[in-house]
Amino acid sequence: MAEKVIIIGSGPAGWTAAIYAARANLHPVVIEGAISEENRLAGTLPLGQLNLTTEVENFPGFPKGILGPELMMNMREQAEGCGTRIITEDVSDVDLSVRPFKVTDTAGTTHEAYSLIIATGASANYIGLDSESRFKNRGVSACAVCDGALPRFRKRPLVVVGGGDSACEEGTYLTKFASEVHLVYRKSRAEMRASPVMVDRITANPKVRPEWHSVVEEVLGDDERGMTGVRLKDVRTGETRTVEAAGMFVAIGHTPNTKFLKGQVETDPQGFIKLTEPFRTMTSVDGVFAAGDVADPIYKQAITAAGMGCKAALDAERWLAHHHKLPAGEPHGSQWNVG
Ligand SMILES: Cc1cc2nc3c(=O)[nH]c(=O)nc-3n(C[C@H](O)[C@H](O)[C@H](O)COP(=O)(O)OP(=O)(O)OC[C@H]3O[C@@H](n4cnc5c(N)ncnc54)[C@H](O)[C@@H]3O)c2cc1C
Repeated sequence: MAEKVIIIGSGPAGWTAAIYAARANLHPVVIEGAISEENRLAGTLPLGQLNLTTEVENFPGFPKGILGPELMMNMREQAEGCGTRIITEDVSDVDLSVRPFKVTDTAGTTHEAYSLIIATGASANYIGLDSESRFKNRGVSACAVCDGALPRFRKRPLVVVGGGDSACEEGTYLTKFASEVHLVYRKSRAEMRASPVMVDRITANPKVRPEWHSVVEEVLGDDERGMTGVRLKDVRTGETRTVEAAGMFVAIGHTPNTKFLKGQVETDPQGFIKLTEPFRTMTSVDGVFAAGDVADPIYKQAITAAGMGCKAALDAERWLAHHHKLPAGEPHGSQWNVG
């Protein structure tokens, strides 16, 4: 029998959608992602991006902050406690041309659902150098919190690439382990995209060496030692210089996880799912809703993802009721009062 709603993804958006859907008696299924090496390297293991961080200080309700993994486990537990069923696989394929929709997971099981909520978040971008790929997991990483404490990085010089909040956060975090952190940014300090407080914090850190107007031209190393440094190029003069470093942490933004959709839902040029109605979570496919970073090129915060997850569950509930997919006599809809 087809599910009323399947939620794909396990960050704040997915779990919030699940809590609301479960409390509306939609008996949701969350396909939370697979525990695989591929997902570990991509930073897309179950529980989403907050599972990769330490303190979360801006999620309301935790005046002293909360550890990201703890917050995510709490959300999962709450969703499960409300009656959510959880499948620990990736969704590899969907067929949105049929009703009910078909959703195939990496175990090869095909599930059917009248409505879908896509909450698959976003993945880290890399620079795209061959030498960067060569030393991935042997010095090159996109997650300081996951890898920064590894023995190979302790008391050694490290490189962080980027000019946004992530680069500042990751660079500051790495100063706990590194002898020094070279912050490589292609523009000037004044042009950094990070919030001023983050820029001030990282540039005031005595262990941080800013490398303004610079790009990584090549990651250096050998098969025996892995990465040993980077060759930087000054974008204004073309001059190159070598910086010794045991690791390079790339923090240059994220790409939404929409590959499994294979073009069946409309996205913008960067791959973010387009929401078709202002303030709502509808997508280009009737009955498919999207929430969180996968559909949010602007805010990309845990609380906004959670808020969108709530809206997606309410939108899905209303859509199911309108399309007579909710049996008469079964209580539902108590949360949804908007006309
Ligand atoms: C290092 C770091 C620190 C951060 N700190 C903060 C902070 O302090 N405060 C804050 O508000 N925000 C913070 N953020 C941003 C915040 O984590 C994100 O905005 C938020 O997690 C987005 O939630 P989401 O539900 O959209 O998706 P995500 O958290 O990205 O989770 C989506 C998950 O869905 C799963 N998934 C993906 N593809 C599939 C598939 N095909 N099948 C099944 N499952 C799939 C994966 O497990 C993936 O991890 C931080 C982000 C990072 C990277």
